[in-house]
Amino acid sequence: MSQSDNSTIAKSNQTKRWQEMDAAHHLHPFTTHHELAKHGARVITRAKGVYIWDSEGNRLIDGMAGLWCVQVGYGREELAEAGYKALKELPFYNSFFQTTHPYAAELSQKLSEVTPKGIDRFFFANSGSEGNDSAVKIIRYYWNLKKQPKKKIIISRNKGYHGVTLASASLSGISAMHPQADLPLPGFVHIACPYWYGDGGDMTPEDFGLKTARALEEKILELGAENIAAFVAEPVQGAGGLIIPPSTYWAEINRICKKYDVLLHIDEVICGFGRTGKWFGSDTYGIEPDMINMAKGLSSGYQPIAAVGLGTRIGDVLFNSDEEWSHGFTYSGHPVACAVALANLEVMQKEHLVEKAGGATGAYFQKKLAELSDHPLVGETRSVGMLGAIELVKDKKTRERFDPALEVGYRCRLHCFANGLVMRAIGDTMVLSPPLVISESEIDELFGLARRCIDLIARDLGKQ
Ligand SMILES: *Cc1c(COP(=O)(O)O)cnc(C)c1O
Repeated sequence: MSQSDNSTIAKSNQTKRWQEMDAAHHLHPFTTHHELAKHGARVITRAKGVYIWDSEGNRLIDGMAGLWCVQVGYGREELAEAGYKALKELPFYNSFFQTTHPYAAELSQKLSEVTPKGIDRFFFANSGSEGNDSAVKIIRYYWNLKKQPKKKIIISRNKGYHGVTLASASLSGISAMHPQADLPLPGFVHIACPYWYGDGGDMTPEDFGLKTARALEEKILELGAENIAAFVAEPVQGAGGLIIPPSTYWAEINRICKKYDVLLHIDEVICGFGRTGKWFGSDTYGIEPDMINMAKGLSSGYQPIAAVGLGTRIGDVLFNSDEEWSHGFTYSGHPVACAVALANLEVMQKEHLVEKAGGATGAYFQKKLAELSDHPLVGETRSVGMLGAIELVKDKKTRERFDPALEVGYRCRLHCFANGLVMRAIGDTMVLSPPLVISESEIDELFGLARRCIDLIARDLGKQ
């Protein structure tokens, strides 16, 4: 579908020049390029607070915090100053071969304070994907050191998203990501996820939560516990459609992992840093991880940085090994990225952003989201902390979906763009993840626009 709001707005010559350069030379992530070339990319030139501006001067409220990451909002002087200071003082040094610097040392200490109980040692990477790739190597190395080299299979879930590098994309269970690169790699196995609205049928959410958790046990028994290294999952699945687990799910997963001696690696790249109303999704759901991966909100996206946090069990084995660990990136613990992440965490603490997401602001966001459920197109709304989803359906009662060829979600997103709102579409599920600093009046504005855009897509469908 080539329909786009971008083609309907007047374009300056400068915008056109950027679009032409871009279309000729820039290979974009997750983009259909011939579509993009037809109408040109929207050029985003600046941002402040919860708003972004394009090169034509249009202002949009960013309901996605960039890509689920700008917790503290855009344009924060504290973060910019911290980065500038580090750039002048120590623009680069590595942490290979027994060196460190104040920024990496202080950030690891800080992370040990805010991450879930037991997570105390940190390896730095530059993206969520690198973090998960590193985690897979750590899991394999752990079982090798433990002299159980057969324990190598990693189980993750359908609709899980863990990034795009070879191992991370193999962990991911969004099936469209696999065929282009002949994935998953051997040893990566996927099970059902707890998507109650989509797959729960007549079951209660609680029963469905138990059933999907026990799919892990079934898979372990099928393949043999002696062959299973780890289970990898997000507390709330993000890019797969904002799937919030039923209340019964995580306690059962904890139990199963312990029973079969399967490591639990929790991907906190979206859920970390206040998104679900506590510091980490593991805190919100009582998950007992052996290790976690974090990125996005760690620096509010101001700098590329990720961290893999190790619990005592894995940490002790790695720290006590007497051979060199053969892994690490040139930019692991980059001083500028660490400095900015530290400033970000200071802002989050000073402004009590986690408490806000878990308290009044989160509650207000959830209430306004729930008000959309009276709309004839809205089958369900669901939320936790500052994460929200809206299911657009053909029939509210039967949960019947629209014909995918209608591209209802995609067209709704285009209406949002044209009307000053960034709201993401995952199929026909609209998702929201605004900056944690958003105010109540900005939340009102966001949901006013969201309702208007759902009305617009309803009108389009009525005409068809
Ligand atoms: C975004 C994301 C990743 C990948 O992070 P990148 O920085 O894009 O590599 C991994 N896991 C989850 C849960 C994510 O949302």
